[in-house]
Amino acid sequence: MSPLTDEQLSAAASACLELQRTAQDIHSKRPFVALLLAPDNTTVLMSSLSLSHVRHAETELARNAADNYARDYLAKTTLVSTWEPCAMCAGTIYWANIGRLVYLASEKTLRQLTGEGNAENLTLDLPCRTIFASGQTEVEVIGPVSGWEAKVAEDSQSILHEAGYEEEFCPESLDATPAFKRVDFLDQKTVAYLQSVKGVSVEYTQEEN
Ligand SMILES: [Zn+2]
Repeated sequence: MSPLTDEQLSAAASACLELQRTAQDIHSKRPFVALLLAPDNTTVLMSSLSLSHVRHAETELARNAADNYARDYLAKTTLVSTWEPCAMCAGTIYWANIGRLVYLASEKTLRQLTGEGNAENLTLDLPCRTIFASGQTEVEVIGPVSGWEAKVAEDSQSILHEAGYEEEFCPESLDATPAFKRVDFLDQKTVAYLQSVKGVSVEYTQEEN
């Protein structure tokens, strides 16, 4: 399958996060979405929201894709999700024969965000790469994606918080990567946290008009 360029990855990530915002704002869905890129790495073939606690976005998408496209074709497609697929979803991606997965934010970060004992989100602790490594065909995995993980976490924070998380999320699991040096999406509290606790130099930048 053709390599994913930075531009293609950014465009897909942007579309995925926008879809997630739409899911929350218009459809009152949880902040998890997935979309499927055609072999040209650009055309969005289909997308899915998270429909329930068992009908996750990635599983719904992978099943729908397997129903509608040939196995050999799906081997050349890319599933892009806002969050790392759980064990169920990774398994369905494998069985659907989707060739590549891009997830923007990790399950580890999600688990930190949802907290322990959150009945709405009893997040697993099982990296999707572990599932794929047990398979007989290869699924290329890209993620978490620097610069996008924090955006997804920020976007998901309020709704997951409302779903039962007791404490305010602090993105301490997010490394002090260069992506944090240029930010235009974090709130002041998060910026203060990154500066004081993580020692990250954070600059707000404005787009030139
Ligand atoms: Zn899942």
